[in-house]
Amino acid sequence: YLGKAQRSPYALYRPELDRHSLVRLALMSELKGAVEQGQLSLYFQPKLDIRQRCLMGVECLVRWIHPVHGFVPPDEFIPLAEQTGNVCALTRWVVRTALAQSRAWQEQGLALKTAVNVSALDLADPGFAGFIAAQLAEHAVPPGSLVVEITESAVMADPEQALGQLQQLCELGVRLSIDDYGTGYSSMAQLKRLPVHELKIDKSFVLDLLSNPDDDIIVRSTVELGHNMGLKVVAEGVETDAVLQRLDQLGCDIAQGYLLSKPLAPVAFAEWLAKTHWGLPRRAVG
Ligand code: C2E
Ligand code: MG
Ligand code: MG
Ligand code: MG
Repeated sequence: YLGKAQRSPYALYRPELDRHSLVRLALMSELKGAVEQGQLSLYFQPKLDIRQRCLMGVECLVRWIHPVHGFVPPDEFIPLAEQTGNVCALTRWVVRTALAQSRAWQEQGLALKTAVNVSALDLADPGFAGFIAAQLAEHAVPPGSLVVEITESAVMADPEQALGQLQQLCELGVRLSIDDYGTGYSSMAQLKRLPVHELKIDKSFVLDLLSNPDDDIIVRSTVELGHNMGLKVVAEGVETDAVLQRLDQLGCDIAQGYLLSKPLAPVAFAEWLAKTHWGLPRRAVG
């Protein structure tokens, strides 16, 4: 363990040393400033309507470009932001930025649903749905164009607390998605009580879909379950055309993954849109 760490003595930021390190403490204290000092960037990853072979939306994924440590992945700093209570400020920045971009796509005649990730702490904030409503109005984005993703484990940790804000978001017309589905512990009874529109099958079941028969069974059953409950089913982590074909056979609705594109910075995403061979959802400009 130490031997591995000693091989790169100049790298200040090493996730494998992260848990108890001083770097981690420093990052925690710097997170608040990161939002204020514009060190965050929003990347976009396309989502494909499998049957139509047409883009239907994007997921917005936050990046922290730290002035000293460089690129810090969200799996490292989102948990820190949750522990320090900074995640709510981060989410608000993400929502504002995502809706401004959504408005811009709308003005270009592109009808893309825009998905943002929120934390359990956001749903514990009684003002959260009100904030979303105000932002939708400010950016003139139709509520049905916004998707709020919440991980299965976050929502199941305290469904009672999440339910109030989720219901308000649902009444606004915002679409709700259960992220990383299959990695947590939801019961059907709990799932039925939540005003959910979409299940996102975790990429750990999708990456090896063709070589792992268990994954095939899990994906097939989840698609069936989702459809029986009237939900759209999304597969994340789609890296190959062969996996896309199998998902199509299994009746999965939406695919997201490196096969289409990695998450891209705004300019790179615009370039990707301009040259992609997938269909684009055109709408009347206005
Ligand atoms: P997630 O919401 O489940 O996002 C999907 C993750 O899978 C992203 O990682 C994406 O880059 C990655 N991914 C997509 N397609 C593929 C693929 O084909 N193969 C592989 N191997 N990976 C793929 P990313 O961007 O590193 O984000 C990690 C997690 O961090 C997200 O998982 C989400 O839980 C969290 N996160 C990211 N942005 C935000 C945010 O703005 N707010 C909150 N609360 N959490 C965020
Ligand atoms: Mg997500
Ligand atoms: Mg996910
Ligand atoms: Mg995930």
